[in-house]
Amino acid sequence: METMTSASSHISNKELIEKQRKFVQRGGLRTVEERKRVLKMLRDAIQSREEAIIKAVEMDMGRPSLEAYASEILYMYNEIDHAIRNLSKWAGRKRVSLPWLLIPGKAHLIPQPYGSVLVISPWNYPVQLSLSPIVGALAAGNAVILKPSEIGGHAEAILAELVNNTFAPELFHVVTGEKEVTMDLIHSRPDYICFTGSPAVGKIIMQEAAKNLIPVTLELGGKSPCIVHDDVNMDAIMNRILWGKCFNAGQTCIGIDYVLVQKKVKNTFVQKFIEFKNKAYGEDTIQSLDFGRIINEKNFDRIAGMISGDILSGGKTDRSQKFIDITLIDADENHPAMQEEIFGPLLPIITYDKIEDAIEFILAREKPLALYLYSNDKTVQKKVEENTYSGSLAINNTLLQVATTNLPFGGVGNSGMGSYHGKFGFETFSHMKPVLNKSLKLDTDLLYAPYKNTMRKLEKWVLWLSR
Ligand code: NAD
Repeated sequence: METMTSASSHISNKELIEKQRKFVQRGGLRTVEERKRVLKMLRDAIQSREEAIIKAVEMDMGRPSLEAYASEILYMYNEIDHAIRNLSKWAGRKRVSLPWLLIPGKAHLIPQPYGSVLVISPWNYPVQLSLSPIVGALAAGNAVILKPSEIGGHAEAILAELVNNTFAPELFHVVTGEKEVTMDLIHSRPDYICFTGSPAVGKIIMQEAAKNLIPVTLELGGKSPCIVHDDVNMDAIMNRILWGKCFNAGQTCIGIDYVLVQKKVKNTFVQKFIEFKNKAYGEDTIQSLDFGRIINEKNFDRIAGMISGDILSGGKTDRSQKFIDITLIDADENHPAMQEEIFGPLLPIITYDKIEDAIEFILAREKPLALYLYSNDKTVQKKVEENTYSGSLAINNTLLQVATTNLPFGGVGNSGMGSYHGKFGFETFSHMKPVLNKSLKLDTDLLYAPYKNTMRKLEKWVLWLSR
């Protein structure tokens, strides 16, 4: 399969990957200064296209400009600036101490790039989820091929233009196309794959990568629950819940998928949700300039098909505009919206009695990418923290656990493996090579044949050491 390079010549994906690997192995990005320069080029390339990026995500999914600016642009500046500031520290050798047998000698770990890293990204935060793992990959000294999602199309085009007009193909290149292109890239044997997308496609990617033992990081999705316990003040939490559901019209991997509400406070929850929703987006959500649209008809039909049963608020849809209203559903575990990740603005409510019941409900399902808990009760907080398993846990907040480069971002089990952001991204895309440097001055005959007297000597040593 042929790939278009920035020089407009055609080379195969295999040739491109080999070129990248050679570039890395010959020290193309060996120095910290060079890596910082490349990261700065990426920052400048984004900065000079801010308007085009905002426009692209608006055209793809009607994303309000403020949401686009915060999540696609500011987010990237933060990630890049943090990497530039800390790279010298991350990239240095790490000394380690040695046991008696290896003395005199020295040992250290040297972080080294894998080579050519393939990043496969989704459409929902097209710039952030493509470029933020790439910051870690470039900071670690790798060359990168990005295969953005073909869905939407405008964001894919701006990413290809931004990257291929800024970087030489042997350093960083965008390859576009459908799933056949992704498969060809994987079969062309990159040295590392970072995939962000659904668990179903994640399994295909891992299976194909395994054929050539290519290491993978999988950033996947699933149903992220939000527990609302009876001790909270609904007025204090409702904006956070509403925002966590409605940002990008619910098309956020760590967005709230469903709420588990303590029985006694269900009615207040519903009443406050509607009150706050009307305040934020108006009574007729379709008129709001602050609420996005569903990416395409396929997803529209999938999500709209889940609207059934006892609708507590919302429920309106308009296929011509790919609009789905913020819809609160009185649900149980058998409701259609509880059978798969919603990835849209529907919010099923399920009630529970005791916090242990909510925990059991979560434990009975796949490990979520994110778990949210709204409660000020320290015992409840501790119980949920210690007894549940998820990619991340945020207490009394939604989405903002990803707003710091000091916390890793990633899933566990069905929601993914591996993580990135800040230093964690650098480490994900580095092989920490152990180096032992032994002095020739002293040696021990304990190791070498003939072994005749070795056992007795060893026993003496062990006895002496355990005194
Ligand atoms: P997707 O899995 O359909 O697609 C992701 C990428 O895989 C795209 O680049 C697509 O072109 C490619 N792809 C799709 N089908 C393929 C196939 N059969 N073979 C090879 N490549 C294929 O996901 P999506 O619809 O783009 O995004 C939504 C999903 O991604 C949701 O499950 C969401 O939770 C998850 N997600 C996770 C994160 C995260 O950081 N953990 C972030 C965003 C989205």
